[in-house]
Amino acid sequence: MTLRAVVVVLDGLRRDMLRAETTPALADFAAATTRFAAHRSVFPSATRVVSACFATGCWPARHGLFGNSVALMEDGELVAHDVGRPDFMDHLRGQRGHSLAMPTMAERLARAGREAMLFSNVSPGAARAHDPDGHGWVLHRAWAHGPGLRRLEGAEAVASVTPDAAGDRMLTEAFLARALAGRQAALAVLWLGEPDTTQHAVPLGSPAAMAAIAAADARFAQVRAAVQARRVLGEDILLIACSDHGHQTVHAVVDIEAELIAAGLKRDAADAGLISVSNGTAALVYLHPDRAPQAAAVLAFLAARPWTGAVFSGTALAEIGHAPRDHLLCAVAMATEPTANDYGVPGLAYAARPAAGKPDRLGCGQHGGLGAAEQMPFLMIEGAGFAAGATHGGPSSPVDLAPTILRHLRLPAQGCDGTALQTPTLENDDD
Ligand SMILES: [Zn+2]
Repeated sequence: MTLRAVVVVLDGLRRDMLRAETTPALADFAAATTRFAAHRSVFPSATRVVSACFATGCWPARHGLFGNSVALMEDGELVAHDVGRPDFMDHLRGQRGHSLAMPTMAERLARAGREAMLFSNVSPGAARAHDPDGHGWVLHRAWAHGPGLRRLEGAEAVASVTPDAAGDRMLTEAFLARALAGRQAALAVLWLGEPDTTQHAVPLGSPAAMAAIAAADARFAQVRAAVQARRVLGEDILLIACSDHGHQTVHAVVDIEAELIAAGLKRDAADAGLISVSNGTAALVYLHPDRAPQAAAVLAFLAARPWTGAVFSGTALAEIGHAPRDHLLCAVAMATEPTANDYGVPGLAYAARPAAGKPDRLGCGQHGGLGAAEQMPFLMIEGAGFAAGATHGGPSSPVDLAPTILRHLRLPAQGCDGTALQTPTLENDDD
């Protein structure tokens, strides 16, 4: 029997937004699955980091991608980078000698003579975090490669896909034709851009946000129907529906860099000895080793801000899957509160203003930190080892998905931080 895994990610969909009226396909699917009632994201709760954690089954401390935006030491200076760029992984490889520090599922499958295909409608950098070195296939509007990192063009690429619900629909059609049928990839992942894209631009719970959720739910319905048809043909498919993080409502934007300057800890905007890199409702703060005597003052300043929820430094970084490496002084989770927005959707947060690009829109959605709503993605799994209609109340996170998928594909998962989520009886009740 052909063993396969199919994953559909509805980017940014909060678990508390799953309702029979707005997500009928997922509500119907739930009855056939095991639901993970305490599923969490990682830190930062941001797409590129979650992508690397999903692909490797490891926390950031092990795979080495610390944020959606990070700083790297280059020629003795800290330089901030947007990981979303299509060429970031190549730059990282040039700086460190490798991209991610742990093997991806694409690499593990290629070694076993099998194939992984990702169709993504989020940032190109997030898409590439699944397979930075080109062991399998990555299809994204701004970046498409096949095995050997061979760039795909023309009809082989998906350049006309738009970053919206219409583009998600185009990408889904391509995914069904090329990954589910077509090459019949052992691991086929469809990472939709919605509802995340819309939630960043409108208030959570508003009609536009709910329409984006409904559209993504309809894409899942298409995939589920296609999976059911292939099961009838005899394929043993593990079907996973999930999101990567939730969203909070931005009620204030903080320019952390400006506050560090005003406090006299950073000379001016050009002072690269101390850099705070925004990750939405979180920030990563890097300190150059020449400035080490300042560390205690910076930590004390950050911990005392009203917009700070928590500061992790030193060995405490391990609590959120990080490590005091690569000149990371601390990670800041911005303060959140449970208050509801005008549409009755709970969860407000401060956002950290990014150095470049548009600051977050007040009253719209954002994520990155440890707030209850952004740490509330959903996870449902249907297939061998997952009882239909069951609810799993124990901990689970994106690092558990690679071991779960590899186990279904009968491939070893050594080196993963996560744990396979199948019930222990799986070994005995199939094959
Ligand atoms: Zn996301």
